[in-house]
Amino acid sequence: GSYGEEEFDFSMLIPPFAGVGLKAYAKDGSDITATVFAPNGFMKVDANYAAGAYENWKATDWPKTYQNPTYSNMFACGIAFAPPHPISKPMSSPNGTPINPTPPRTGMPSGIIGKAVAHSICDKILKGENAPLHEASMAHMGAACVASAGKGLFNGTAAAMTIYPVVPDFDKYPGTGRDTDYTFGEIGLAGHWIKHILHHLFIWKAKLKAGWTLIPE
Ligand SMILES: Cc1cc2nc3c(=O)[nH]c(=O)nc-3n(C[C@H](O)[C@H](O)[C@H](O)COP(=O)(O)OP(=O)(O)OC[C@H]3O[C@@H](n4cnc5c(N)ncnc54)[C@H](O)[C@@H]3O)c2cc1C
Repeated sequence: GSYGEEEFDFSMLIPPFAGVGLKAYAKDGSDITATVFAPNGFMKVDANYAAGAYENWKATDWPKTYQNPTYSNMFACGIAFAPPHPISKPMSSPNGTPINPTPPRTGMPSGIIGKAVAHSICDKILKGENAPLHEASMAHMGAACVASAGKGLFNGTAAAMTIYPVVPDFDKYPGTGRDTDYTFGEIGLAGHWIKHILHHLFIWKAKLKAGWTLIPE
């Protein structure tokens, strides 16, 4: 609600969150963009887009298979799928600026979803059109985040956080919606070491070097 200026070394400008605005056309040339994509440009999948107000939001609104409901050969994973609604309760600043964090389809959930969808597509090819689809709901998935706050072998520091599940489930975990045994954060040298090790592991995995499939998303 108040205005001011902050000193900073580095900053990141975050644009409004939206899909790339692809157009979709059927074989007969008719425009099917509204069937395939939500108004925000992300692809419609097996989510409940009719949940309405915050009070009605449920963990089960979140997609499991990421298959387009109209075209069974189309999937959207990671950042590309249209979430059913935000995760956090919509808020606004005292002067009315809306504060609605976008659901985080960050590296870890995107990787896990991508893997499930890749398995589903393989099964459709190898086992037939009706093969059961693999599932990766963000309401059943945990995520970890390690944010660097200074490098150095012995004096480095990073904040390490885990959250489970990413989408809160207030029916299963009344109060916070999260399992507090698996939702915690700590800052220190250990976090820096984890970040350093993950850095090398993920580059190894990206290069598909020996044993890459054993390295988790
Ligand atoms: C500045 C920044 C910092 C971030 N930091 C972190 C972090 O520290 N930790 C974290 O977990 N996440 C972080 N994220 C988020 C994370 O990078 C994304 O959520 C994640 O990469 C999404 O994965 P994705 O595979 O869904 O999409 P993307 O990684 O965006 O992959 C989409 C791919 O599709 C390709 N593509 C697009 N159009 C076409 C086309 N027509 N034909 C063929 N290919 C196409 C693109 O080139 C791209 O390679 C950050 C994001 C940003 C922008």
